[in-house]
Amino acid sequence: MTDRRRERHSATLGLADATSLSKRPRAVVVGGGIAGLAAATGLAERGVDVEVVEKEPYLGGRVGGWTDEDDGSDVPMNRGFHAFFRQYYNLRALLSRVDPQLRMLTPVTDYPLIDGEGRRDTFRGLPRTPPWNALVFALRSPTFRLSDLARIDARASAPLAAVSVPEIYHQLDHIDAETFLKSINFPESARHLAFEVFSRSFFAEPTQLSAGELATMFHIYFLGSSEGLIFDVANANFDVSLWNPLRDYLSGRGVGFRLGTPVQRVETVDGEFRVHTDGGALSADAVVLALDVNGLQHVLAASPDLGNDLWRAQIRRLRTAPSFVVHRLWLDRPVRPDRAPFLGTAGHPPLDNISVLERYEAQAADWARRTGGSVVELHSYAMDSATPSEAAIEQLHKLYPETAAAKVVQERVLRRSDCPLFTPGTYTRRPTVATPQTGLVLAGDGIRVDLPVALMERAATTGWVAANQLLAQWGVSGHDLFTVPTRGRSTLLRSLALRQIRGRA
Ligand SMILES: Cc1cc2nc3c(=O)[nH]c(=O)nc-3n(C[C@H](O)[C@H](O)[C@H](O)COP(=O)(O)OP(=O)(O)OC[C@H]3O[C@@H](n4cnc5c(N)ncnc54)[C@H](O)[C@@H]3O)c2cc1C
Repeated sequence: MTDRRRERHSATLGLADATSLSKRPRAVVVGGGIAGLAAATGLAERGVDVEVVEKEPYLGGRVGGWTDEDDGSDVPMNRGFHAFFRQYYNLRALLSRVDPQLRMLTPVTDYPLIDGEGRRDTFRGLPRTPPWNALVFALRSPTFRLSDLARIDARASAPLAAVSVPEIYHQLDHIDAETFLKSINFPESARHLAFEVFSRSFFAEPTQLSAGELATMFHIYFLGSSEGLIFDVANANFDVSLWNPLRDYLSGRGVGFRLGTPVQRVETVDGEFRVHTDGGALSADAVVLALDVNGLQHVLAASPDLGNDLWRAQIRRLRTAPSFVVHRLWLDRPVRPDRAPFLGTAGHPPLDNISVLERYEAQAADWARRTGGSVVELHSYAMDSATPSEAAIEQLHKLYPETAAAKVVQERVLRRSDCPLFTPGTYTRRPTVATPQTGLVLAGDGIRVDLPVALMERAATTGWVAANQLLAQWGVSGHDLFTVPTRGRSTLLRSLALRQIRGRA
């Protein structure tokens, strides 16, 4: 945390510990992804009796990791490459519970972006403070020319420079990211790179993504924070580096874990919740539903007691982004030594990025050392079902020609669709952490929280907020949270933008 303008969101004060209440509250957290683990941590640290119930046999959800066995040898696998940005304050607070220096993470000092014409942008050595980071990026970028910059419609683009959350959603949520970018004359080539990377990080085509969400991303990563654009990655498979240590920490605080246990439904009986699984029912004073969109919709559909009609309709209307493919290849020869740990790609459909795992991950580095090979991961987002995952390998061969002759020693292909889709016009009707029912809260990256957070950090933040809301209900102190500033940090840009917006009105 180096940004002195980061914002603290102070928690409600109360009792130090729930064990001093006449009855120690019991909470069931459904879902063991980041959101569920943050909620479980927030509750357990205040003395609440917590049980985490997770459908999969591993923790971490979409950031999960596990080890397969193949012919007697271990094959470590993750749900896919993840970038841990420095402005992920609440996620880092969670991970620091088990590793205060965050040695489990290692910095990726550069991640080039390459477009269909071979132009390469880089984030190496950019100033960290806005707006200089954006200016220097644009000035030295081969995809952004000065004449392009001059053509950007300053008036229409004003909201980008002066993002305030949640106000930006009221300004821009009604249009899609593509239309917005066209309307401000954002250069076509730069759109592919700088913005498609953001919008496709949401697993959506720019036509399917709310411009409010895109502008919020731009604020979090570019103009609203001075933490910089450099990110860290986990230095070992996710189970080893992140979740096994956190599980041990939570077990030490009495948290129970039921893995490989899907929750079927939740009912209310005599003012208590009953959380039903195949293995029986768990009673609880409170329930955190920290599920992905599909999981939440399924549990809700089978739990007619919960919430009210309006809220249930909000959840039914949530949407999931198109499927994406994570393709991990163990190759019999190394990629060239100058290949970056992570490369973002545009104009190479369906491929969105390539990571070279032995550059940062212990298990892959060990395998590469032993065999002389390389472990490469390809991500393809917003895939249509007709595109075979092999199409990404063809792009790998074009971008890294040395891989074309390589033999694939092992491979794993994951095709999933469990990311939320934020289509235009949906912000105000998205469900929030609070629900119409006392003792029931939601968490997850698809849940609305009126703070500048996205993706993993939204998952972590909603998890902490869910814990805080339950703790407040019991009169127990919550946990302070941090975010990047909730409004554009430059007074000059803000006032210019306001003038532009007023001029337009
Ligand atoms: C390939 C990929 C790359 C990504 N890269 C990045 C990145 O670089 N940076 C970034 O910030 N974000 C990234 N993300 C997004 C990030 O993974 C998510 O925002 C975050 O993990 C969401 O966490 P969550 O806890 O909200 O949901 P999840 O992780 O989906 O957790 C929900 C949990 O609920 C469980 N569940 C579902 N149904 C049931 C049931 N009936 N009973 C019990 N449990 C159930 C699921 O198994 C899951 O474990 C990426 C996502 C993917 C898929």
